Amino acid sequence: MDMVTSSSRAEVGESSTSKPTSDTWAKLVPLDAQLSDVEICSNEMIVSSQVTFSSQEKHEWCRITRNPDLLTAMMQNKSSNDMLVDDAVVQREDVVEIKCGTEIVLGPKRDGCLTYKFKLMPGQETCKKQLKICIDVEHAKCSICLNIWHDVVTIAPCLHNFCNGCFSEWLKRSQKKHSSVLCPQCRAVVQFAGRNHFLRNIEEDILHADPSLRHSNEEVALIDSYATIRSNLVIRSGRGIQRKRAQAFLDEVLDNEEHDSQESDDAGPQCPQCGSEIGGFQCNQHTIHLQCQVCGGMMPSRADMSELQHCMGCDRTFCGAYWHAQTVTRSDFYPVCNNEIFRPISEHTITRIPFLAHEMNRHEQDITEKCIRQTGKTLQEVVAEWIRKLNNREIDRTRMPLNHAERITAATHVCSTCYEKLVSFLLYWFRISMPKYLLPPDALQREDCWYGYACRTQHHNEEHARKRNHVCRPTRGANV
Ligand SMILES: [Zn+2]
Ligand SMILES: [Zn+2]
Ligand SMILES: [Zn+2]
Ligand SMILES: [Zn+2]
Ligand SMILES: [Zn+2]
Ligand SMILES: [Zn+2]
Repeated sequence: MDMVTSSSRAEVGESSTSKPTSDTWAKLVPLDAQLSDVEICSNEMIVSSQVTFSSQEKHEWCRITRNPDLLTAMMQNKSSNDMLVDDAVVQREDVVEIKCGTEIVLGPKRDGCLTYKFKLMPGQETCKKQLKICIDVEHAKCSICLNIWHDVVTIAPCLHNFCNGCFSEWLKRSQKKHSSVLCPQCRAVVQFAGRNHFLRNIEEDILHADPSLRHSNEEVALIDSYATIRSNLVIRSGRGIQRKRAQAFLDEVLDNEEHDSQESDDAGPQCPQCGSEIGGFQCNQHTIHLQCQVCGGMMPSRADMSELQHCMGCDRTFCGAYWHAQTVTRSDFYPVCNNEIFRPISEHTITRIPFLAHEMNRHEQDITEKCIRQTGKTLQEVVAEWIRKLNNREIDRTRMPLNHAERITAATHVCSTCYEKLVSFLLYWFRISMPKYLLPPDALQREDCWYGYACRTQHHNEEHARKRNHVCRPTRGANV
C-alpha cells in the first residue's frame, strides 16, 4: 500500500511518492487552486495529510481502492470525522463508490473543510465501459444435465445451447443409432455445432456472481472428458448435397420425368473424401465435417487425426496438414490449403520480431533485436534454441498465451498466429534471462516499471515506455 501525502494548509513541497508518475490512474483535484493534486498510482492507496512544519502528525483521510471496471473506485473514510461525498454523509470507516467527477469534502461540512474532486486520468481505459445486463440463470442451463452450461456449445439451425460434454455424448449416441442428429431440446435436425465464445463469457460471469452454482472439480473433469467439440462441426451437409446431385444425375440419365428432387443447389464447398476413398477413408452419411478456418473447405472430422485438423494453440480448424497427409492437393473442385499456415512448431520460420512481442512495446522489441544481433545469431536460430528449451520443459508455461499449453511440444501443429504468440512468449524468456550487462547501453540504466509487462501506461505514454524496463515481472497491481 502506498502512502501519498498532500498538504492540508498550503503547498509544502512534495514527498517522493506524491511526485506525478505516469502510472497515475486517478487524481484528487482540490477546489482550492493553491493546493496540489493528489496522484493516485496504485490500485489501493491511503490518502493522508502531509506532515507540515506546524503539525508533526500525519492524518489519514481515506483509502481509495480501484474497481475492476477501471471506471469506479471504492472510498473508505479513514478520518476521525464524517465526510461528504457528493453531499451525502459518509461516516468513519464507511465505504462508498466514487467515479470520475465525484466531490469529496474531507469533513462534515463544506465550509472550512478541504474539498477535492476525484478525476480519472485520460487514457486509463476509460472507454472500456461495461454494459450491465440481467440474466435469468434458468436461461443459462443445459437441458441435458440441468446445470449451468459448462463450455457451452450452440447448435444450428435451432440455436439451442448445451454443455460441450453433454452434447458430445448425445452426438456420439445419435450417430450410432440414427441417420440424423436431433436437437435434445426441440428435436430439430442438427446441421451444425460450435463452441459459443460469447455465451461462454456469460457462463463465467454467472459462476463468478454465484459461486454456489459451480461444479466441483471432479464433475468438471468428468464433463470435460466427454467433450469432443473443439471447433465448428458441420453435420451431414456435405453428404446430403452429394446425394441430391447423384439423384439429379440419375434422373437425367434415366430421363426420368419426376424432377421433383431438383432442389436449388446452394452447395457450399465440398469435401474431397465424400465422393471418393482417399488414403483408405471415405465419408459416409454419419460423417461429421469440419470447416477450414482459412479456405472454408470441408474435411471429415477424424478423432484419430485431430492433431492434424486443429491448432492446439487456438482450437481452430485448418485443413492443410490433414490433406497433405492424405496427399490431396488443391483442385478446381475443392478448396484445400497448402501446409504453410498450419504446421509443426519446429517447421515454422520467422524473420522478424512479431508485432505482438513484449506487449507490442516497440522500444522493447528494438532492444531485443539488438540483443539478438549481439549474439551473432539470427532470430530464427535464437527462437529454435528456445523452442528446444520449451520442449525440454525448462520454461514455466503459466503465462504461455496458448490453449493446452502443457501439451505443446516442438512437434505440435499450430497455426501461424499461434506460432507468433509462442515466439513472443519465448522472446520474453530470452530477454528476462539475459544478464543485464549484455543489454545495449541505452537500455542498461533503466529501472524496472513496477507493473512490469502488465503496465498499461507503456501503451499510451512513449516516454514511460522508453524510460522504464517492461520486460520484467510486475511488483505492483493486480498481476503480482
Ligand atoms: Zn449439460
Ligand atoms: Zn433445438
Ligand atoms: Zn466428407
Ligand atoms: Zn492457432
Ligand atoms: Zn483450408
Ligand atoms: Zn510501466
